[in-house]
Formats: sequence, structure tokens, C-alpha cells
Amino acid sequence: MKKLYLLLFTVWSGISIAQMPDVERCMTPQAILHQDAKTPGYADLVREQFELAKNTPVMKSDEEYVIPVVFHIVWNSPQENLADSIIHRQIELLNQDFGRKNPDTINMREDFDIVKGNPRIQFKLATIDPDGNPTTGITRTQTNKTSFFDLSFLTAGFDVLEEVKQTDNGGMDPWNQERYLNIWVCNMSFLGQTFLLGYATPPDGLPNWPQGTTDGLSDGVVVQYQTVGDNNPNMLDMGQGAIEVKGRTVTHEIGHYLGLRHIWGDGDCAEDDGIDDTPNADDQSNFDCDDTKNTCVDDIFGIDLPDMIENYMDYSAETCQNSFTKGQAMLMRSVLENQREKLINNNPANTAEAVLPDFSIYPNPFDNDVTISIKNGKMDYLEVRDITGKLIMEEKVTQDIHHINTSHLQKGVYIVSFKNSGQQLGSRKIVKH
Ligand code: ZN
Ligand code: CA
Repeated sequence: MKKLYLLLFTVWSGISIAQMPDVERCMTPQAILHQDAKTPGYADLVREQFELAKNTPVMKSDEEYVIPVVFHIVWNSPQENLADSIIHRQIELLNQDFGRKNPDTINMREDFDIVKGNPRIQFKLATIDPDGNPTTGITRTQTNKTSFFDLSFLTAGFDVLEEVKQTDNGGMDPWNQERYLNIWVCNMSFLGQTFLLGYATPPDGLPNWPQGTTDGLSDGVVVQYQTVGDNNPNMLDMGQGAIEVKGRTVTHEIGHYLGLRHIWGDGDCAEDDGIDDTPNADDQSNFDCDDTKNTCVDDIFGIDLPDMIENYMDYSAETCQNSFTKGQAMLMRSVLENQREKLINNNPANTAEAVLPDFSIYPNPFDNDVTISIKNGKMDYLEVRDITGKLIMEEKVTQDIHHINTSHLQKGVYIVSFKNSGQQLGSRKIVKH
């Protein structure tokens, strides 16, 4: 934690340290406590959702999941208005980190070979906006706010930061948060000093979560503008000189957004992050790459592993981060298959072609032929399987009204599934009398 900056508050405001909020590099845990104060029981529900995600077996461990992303750049001074090339580079970096394709995985110590994991999650800038129009996946909003963090944080807490997500308060409203990962990029420095790099909302899916209201945290990720990309001309300096940036603040915050906690469990050795294969640690390693530390005794496959400064969910320097564990990868995939499944399933935000065509099948139950009518969207191929999964028929589809001769099929239940350009669009159950 950056005590230095709490002192800064004291000097500036005359308020005692005891009244100071915890201000640190990533404030996701504090964001949860903030919401818990407003909606008592929220923190418990986040924990329940975490357990649920952890204990729900992942359906598919190999399929690549693609999340559509919108970057909202909310800028005051021109250097905060990051060029497209920086955003594009950040997407590449995310796809490396979340696909274990980053070249610096070779720097991971061999100790962690037994736990290293590949989330197989990829990101793409949205190509279709919520109104169905083409988009670059980047919005730009000029604001008159020089920073989204000011002294009113002391009383209003996250309500101040959250204004970046509100058009009426100098920010930018989110896009449909079930369909897009919203990432706001802005300035959160205080008196010219950078101390807070980002925060994110964990998956909620909770009945008491006031979605999209100003009363609660609005879903998504917020990052300080200097942390984006590895080609950002703005130097990140938190008071002790330039910090090398490799886009991993965004990786870290998306880790939270997909359910992960800090690897040290935000406490001493008695606390952990709830993931079985992440080595526990006594406290975060702040921007260092000290590979001699083993602060907690743990038992991971019978081994007491050292502190994992290689983990994206640590506070280590970005230059020594390069890995998620298997447990972390599976937790994030479980969240995508459950609490955040609308991000990946038939999501119109992904591509225009991914829109599920509106089609009907009749009659159903059927006798000697079935007609498939496509009202909009595209489909070029269909296949019929029996309930054991055995392929019975496959046909090219060239017209919007397509007839299938089914006279040779035996009575029973069949699954007809539809594809376009090799992409699975969906399937329906049909029954022969
Ligand atoms: Zn964090
Ligand atoms: Ca250890």
C-alpha cells in the first residue's frame, strides 16, 4: 500500500490518517467494500459467486472464447486522448497474456511449470455498437474534468471515480454491459501525482446489484491512461521514476473482472485468494521482481512454492509478470460460461456474422419433409444428427427457404444444427412422428 500518498492527503487536507481511506495501486477490493456498505451483504454474495464459479466444472477447456471490448477514452488534456495504435497494441498484449502467447513466458521460473495455465481467452474491439452500427470499438469523450479523483473521494468514495462512467457527469455511459467489456481510460491522478492505476467490478449476477445505476458500481474496468499499451508516449511515474509499462494493468484488472482476486488474498498468510494452485504470499510485492521470496508455507501438489511474482494478479513489476495459473484460467472460463456468458454466447457485439439468424422449422414434429425458413441473417450449411450425436445428413443451404427430405429417417428425435462460414450458429431439436 502506498502510505506515502495517505500522508499527502494528511498534509493537504488536515484530516488525520485514521480517517483516510486505503488508497493503493489497484482498488478493486475497496470497490467491493464500498458497494457492501451501500448494499449490505454484497461482499458475501461476491464470495458466494466466486465459490459457485470455482465449483462449477468448466464445460469446455480448449475452445477459445472471444470477448468484445469497447474502450471509452475520456480525456481532458490532449495526451490523455490515446491514439488508436495504443489501444490496438493493448488488445494484442491482452491476447498474448490471456492466450499464453506472450514471449516472456520463458522467464517464468520452472517451479511454476506444474501450475501454469492458459485461459484461452481472446479480446477484440467491438465491430458493431449497441445500435447495430459499425464501430471502431473506441469512443472518445472530451471532459472538463482534469481528474476523476479528487478530495471528495474522502467522503463520497467510489461515487467520484464512477463519474467516468456517466455522460452527465463528464464521463461516458457504458455500452450494454452484458454484451461488451467496457474499459474506461482516464486520468485519476491527484495533485499531479499518480497512485491509482485501476479498478474493476467482479462478476456479480446478483439480485441486489443495481445494474447501471449511479448508486452502485457500474460494471467494467477503469484504468489510468499511462498504463495502456507498451507504446504509450506518456510516462508512468508513481513518485519514484519511470515504471516500464507492458499493458499489464489492463490484464490485471480484467483478471478481477473475470473473478480473480489478488494472489496474496489481500492479507497475511492466513488469507489466500481462494484458488488452489496459486502460491500464497504474506503481502503484495510492490513493483519489484524479487525472486528470492517465499513468505508463506503452502502445499501445492506437495510443494512449498516461492512467491509467484510472475503472476498477473500480484503487484510485482509488469516486466516480471508473465503467467496465470491453471486454477485462475479455469475460474475465468467458468465465469465466462456462467455469470458472464452473454459476453461469448451468440453475442451480436462480436461480429455482424455472429448474429443468430431468425429462422423457423416446420412442421415439427414432422413426417417426410421439413422446411427451414430463414427470415434474416445467413446460414450456408446444416447438419442433422441423431441423439447419440451420429451424423445422419448434411446439406448446403443456398436459399432462404430450404426443404429437407426426411422420408428415409426413422421415428425419433434429431438435432439439426446450422453453420455459416464454418461458424456454429445454433441448433434445434426436431422429432419425427
Ligand atoms: Zn487488483
Ligand atoms: Ca510459499
